Amino acid sequence: MKVLVINAGSSSLKYQLLDMDTEKVLAKGLAERIGIDGSNVTYQPADGDKITITEPLKDHKDALDIIIKEIADPKVGVIDSIKDIDAVGHRTVHGGETFTKSVVVDDNVVKKMEDVSDLAPLHNPANLTGIRAMQELLPGVPEVAVFDTAFHQTMPDYAYVYALPYELYTDKHIRKYGFHGTSHHFVAIEAAKILGKPLDELKLITCHLGNGSSIDAIQYGKSVDTSMGFTPLAGLEMGTRSGDVDPSILIYLENNGYTVEEVGDMINNKSGALGVSGVSSDFRDIEEEANKGNKRAILALDIFCYRIRTTIGAYVAAMDGVDAIIFTGGIGENSVTDRAKICSNMKYLGITLDKDKNRERGKAQIITTPDSRTKVLVIPTNEELMIARDTVELTEKK
Ligand code: ADP
Repeated sequence: MKVLVINAGSSSLKYQLLDMDTEKVLAKGLAERIGIDGSNVTYQPADGDKITITEPLKDHKDALDIIIKEIADPKVGVIDSIKDIDAVGHRTVHGGETFTKSVVVDDNVVKKMEDVSDLAPLHNPANLTGIRAMQELLPGVPEVAVFDTAFHQTMPDYAYVYALPYELYTDKHIRKYGFHGTSHHFVAIEAAKILGKPLDELKLITCHLGNGSSIDAIQYGKSVDTSMGFTPLAGLEMGTRSGDVDPSILIYLENNGYTVEEVGDMINNKSGALGVSGVSSDFRDIEEEANKGNKRAILALDIFCYRIRTTIGAYVAAMDGVDAIIFTGGIGENSVTDRAKICSNMKYLGITLDKDKNRERGKAQIITTPDSRTKVLVIPTNEELMIARDTVELTEKK
């Protein structure tokens, strides 16, 4: 079965075509600057050279039209005909409280997605555009929507209701939703395989650390708490996002000459590791500066690791224990020093890192010594594969 996975943003679109009999990627690429001058599409077949097509793309449909033509092109394509695409899986950001798992898209689902769009005004409309474009280009081919928020819908109310007037929750749907659910769920499943135990017998803490970062407490296969909140701004220090701050600071700033827009821009784009270090939002650059002794770069990394450690501690408390901690995402998978630093003060969990294993890259494995009471694992995330798996599961049953 061949599944096309689409991740549509407002002006960009990532895609992968997977052969789900082998779970191998056949081709992948990216459309950029959709609706803007200078748009282009890249197409990378698994066994061929990357091609860049520079053409005006007025909307997502233009981009997808080029993508499916390349995929089925007689010379550079990886399938004989677009008819060989059996199903399409869409990464979708916000499912509100409506979607607790992935769904096959129909008119009713589109309507419900529109209803929750105001919760993710930058993302959901773009995801819907991708869905509608595929309906036109591949009519009759089943589409599945996979939501970033869905995995977290198992949280108990005391974890997701904010201590604000309760009507804000009932009337305005203001609550913790959590994000990165597809990634947290994927690495939890893979961790259970490596640990050789059923997921529903494990207490796991998954740390997705990238440009955006979040941590998830997964008890017996269910997300019971997570560090992002109503929006992906909450929780940890991120590349440019502040994570949790005392909300009064924002009121204070607005009372002292800052506009709401300026504060919004500050906490989303000018804070986090960039704001503290003054160096960059890229953790490689910050680590390089920290190694040279740059105090603010050191502080940015200290804050990052400290918050992760204390959030892990909170989730150990939430689950009354933990069997394994998992690192994933660009930083989680690659930063040997951050992993070592985060795990350095965790004697209470009986963690001893295997220094050699911690230095190995790109491999899903346990990086603690065999006598460690709590295991630590590195698992490269693969949200596209998770989306494709859900797509197969839901469309094969039909
Ligand atoms: P996104 O959240 O956009 O998917 P990624 O998961 O790709 O982001 O993570 C990007 C982050 O990973 C960047 O801050 C980058 O610096 C960091 N990163 C990648 N490789 C390394 C490395 N070897 N050491 C430290 N950080 C790294």
